[in-house]
Amino acid sequence: MPIVRLADIIGQPAAVEFLRGVVAGGRFANAYLFHGPAGVGKGTAALAFARALLCEHGGGAPSGAPGLFDEPIPPTGAALPDDACGGCAACGKSATLQHPDLKFLFPVSGEEKELDGTVAETIAALREDPLFVFTYEKASSIRLSLTRELIRELGFQPFEAARRVVVVRDADRMREDQYSALLKSIEEPGPSTVWVLSSSRPNRLPATIRSRCQRVRFAALSEQAVIAFLEQRAAVKAEEARLLAALASVSLARALTLREAEPLKLRNEALALIDPALRGDAQGLWKASQSFMKYGRTGRETLRRMIEFHELWLRDLLRARYGAPRELLANRDREEELRRQAQQIDAHEIRRRLTVLEEALRSIDGNVTADMTVFSAMARVAGARFGEGEWPPHPAGRWDY
Ligand SMILES: [Zn+2]
Repeated sequence: MPIVRLADIIGQPAAVEFLRGVVAGGRFANAYLFHGPAGVGKGTAALAFARALLCEHGGGAPSGAPGLFDEPIPPTGAALPDDACGGCAACGKSATLQHPDLKFLFPVSGEEKELDGTVAETIAALREDPLFVFTYEKASSIRLSLTRELIRELGFQPFEAARRVVVVRDADRMREDQYSALLKSIEEPGPSTVWVLSSSRPNRLPATIRSRCQRVRFAALSEQAVIAFLEQRAAVKAEEARLLAALASVSLARALTLREAEPLKLRNEALALIDPALRGDAQGLWKASQSFMKYGRTGRETLRRMIEFHELWLRDLLRARYGAPRELLANRDREEELRRQAQQIDAHEIRRRLTVLEEALRSIDGNVTADMTVFSAMARVAGARFGEGEWPPHPAGRWDY
């Protein structure tokens, strides 16, 4: 069951405590805005919060006398539970996103005429995979047609629960005119709708929307929290979990997307490539580069990751130079090698190489052929020691270093 309870959210004690307090208090703002770094659990928490608001033993209990076979509703004035019970019919439905009063909007890409299919596929994947991660293309957006439909529905009474909860993931991916429709609805939602927006770029939301939301801040996750999650819930081996956490800059979502790409194997390939460059060995670099050319145009993501592994290695070199203990090294399984290299290179040179890699990452996103970018970056990492005549002839003759 993919939609968890607030109690299951990791690494966000302050936000979770606040939200559980809101649930127990039984008084809700018109709208909440969950904000904080990408990939730290805002979207997951938004759905968990919605679930708690719909739970029959909490805020979701419909008003009016209980039916003959209903479980007794706690008398008014008694404290409500502070989380979804997980066992009632409403919790069952919301866990699989099938509760009629739980509305869920998220950015999608692709053709408008295939929209229904795209949305259904995403929801099915989310339902089935407890480790599902939303990934977006640049142009992904929350579609106008879906917003319209939703806002029309809000005019009616909720179907089963005391209120309707509208969760909007990455709410910053909307158009201006959508925001005005949304704003009207947030300002006058009636007693029966609670909006829960999430965004890692809240400044892109119009100020008028932000100011009407109760803001809930999500913190950056600690590396330890990401590692523990990967190991315990995603069955990732300890060594790989550490690399993934470092590579993903503690975005759990990104670490989860990267976990299936054999991180250790790719890290080793990446190191085999940068090694001759670090030694200034032109022939060796040429040879090593033959093995990564296979990724070519199709493997942009893989090549990007290789460069990220290079950056991780260089950062480790910096740390090692400054005497960082083993626990602080992402590549600590190759500690001996790191320490040795760190002795032979000065910090200034490491920083220069990091700049080269940063530039390479930027140009991989542009129209440049990705494998060329990597190769030319490696040549520049190698530095000025490479002379023109050292390269074997290449038929394309287009190395640009
Ligand atoms: Zn429940």
